Amino acid sequence: MRPIFSLVEERKTGRPIAHIVGKRAFWDLELAVNDSTLIPRPDTEILVEKVLEIIESKGPEQGEGLDLGTGTGAIALSLASSLPKWQWTGVDIIPEAVLLARHNTKLNQIPNCQFVESSWFTALADQKFDFIVSNPPYIDENDPHLNLGDVRFEPKTALVAKGHGLADIRYIVENARRHLKRNGKLILEHGFEQGVEVRHILRDFNFQYVDTFKDLSGNDRVSIGYF
Ligand code: GLN
Repeated sequence: MRPIFSLVEERKTGRPIAHIVGKRAFWDLELAVNDSTLIPRPDTEILVEKVLEIIESKGPEQGEGLDLGTGTGAIALSLASSLPKWQWTGVDIIPEAVLLARHNTKLNQIPNCQFVESSWFTALADQKFDFIVSNPPYIDENDPHLNLGDVRFEPKTALVAKGHGLADIRYIVENARRHLKRNGKLILEHGFEQGVEVRHILRDFNFQYVDTFKDLSGNDRVSIGYF
């Protein structure tokens, strides 16, 4: 254990507490964290909550899920631990993030989740899933919030997307259709001002029952479409 004063000195430089202590709680898990990827946020728990609500009420009891841009593995591991009969796959383009997610699988002893290095769908051949989930990068490159707080210490690859933050979301929606089974669902986290546009994108690509859910602060945060 490092002396407390050296931890305080490090914090005074602005370094996120999650990076200093190397971990962060998310859902019912404790996850190892490093600077290769995003620090899990409580806002993202709403996505996990919604997926569980839908699967618990409508099924299927057993299924396959995909988490795109998984980072620490937070979403995939939370869903795998809450749905032991489902098999989850998390993909990330950053090799260090894939190693971190695999480490988190062992730490939390979750048998039904695997991680693969992949730029979005590229390593998945023609695999199809019942649920595709993602917390992709969605911040505009000129957003001043990138220069504040913990975000300054997180990699831009996990945060920033072109096209006013919507380019990766659009890419995912367009390509998810080839990887969803019949009646499959796609759920995405997005910025609090992006709800209207994300719903448009989902409808443009023929998703049905499109809906948006709010986070704990009452902001639009997660949108879903049924294939
Ligand atoms: N919600 C995060 C933030 O505003 C961003 C997460 C993301 O881009 N996926 O800091």
